[in-house]
Amino acid sequence: MATGAVANLSVVSICAHSGTHIDAPLHFIKDGLAIDQVPLEVFTGRCRIVDCGDADWITADLMHTFHPQPGERLLFKTRNSEGWGRPVFNEEAVAFDPSGAAALRDAGVRLVGIDYLSAGNYRRWGAEVHQIILGAGIPILESLDLSGVGPGEYDLMCVPLLIPGAEGAPARALVRPVS
Ligand SMILES: [Zn+2]
Repeated sequence: MATGAVANLSVVSICAHSGTHIDAPLHFIKDGLAIDQVPLEVFTGRCRIVDCGDADWITADLMHTFHPQPGERLLFKTRNSEGWGRPVFNEEAVAFDPSGAAALRDAGVRLVGIDYLSAGNYRRWGAEVHQIILGAGIPILESLDLSGVGPGEYDLMCVPLLIPGAEGAPARALVRPVS
């Protein structure tokens, strides 16, 4: 409208993994579910945020201190959340190692969330970690900003964009304290 048009109108052209988004199993699994095939209830409901402190990797040993439960939505707060203001890609971002990913699979959690662009580190084990988690049919909610919330139980409100057949989609994700 600043240039005389009758209305403002934006065009959005982005990767399906831009901003906060969900990886569906199809991202790394050939016959895995696409984002529109994952039931929406997976993304909405009670969740638990755990604090990984200064850990560089989310390993099985660290995972076991959290006692992940079957069917739970588990969001991992790491030191990554302190860095959201910096406009630089962090190649050293905290991520799952294969043992941590396997522990999630073995616990049978419903949804995994992490506070950086990927559940896998840029340098090591990125594909392997995705293969383990998504191979278990567990979607991954990536690029959460958890800087403003502490560990505990919350209600998660999250709905991915409906992109039929896509291996992922952007989503807004909000948590609300359990009342
Ligand atoms: Zn992704």
